[in-house]
Parts: sequence; C-alpha cells; structure tokens
Amino acid sequence: MTLAHFLDNLRCALCGTLNALWLDPVWGVVECQGCGQRALAFPEIGEGE
Ligand SMILES: [Zn+2]
Repeated sequence: MTLAHFLDNLRCALCGTLNALWLDPVWGVVECQGCGQRALAFPEIGEGE
C-alpha cells in the first residue's frame, strides 16, 4: 500500500478529522490540519534506541 493510501485512511486521534493529516518527511511525523496534533508516522522506528 502506498503512503498516500495510508494517509487517506488516517483519522486524527484527537479531533477525529479524516483525511486532514499530512506527512512531514523531514521529521517523520504526521500533522493534523484541523487541530495541529502531531504524531510519529512510523512509531516503531526508533524504539529500543
Ligand atoms: Zn486533529
């Protein structure tokens, strides 16, 4: 599945807005355009650091 598909089906956990998230490739996070909530796009990366 493509990254675009991944974002298309992502819902903000804070405000519940669907398809409002965009990926910041520099920080590896997704940010909600509705409420500004940020979350790691790939939380499994960096674990066990
Ligand atoms: Zn939100």
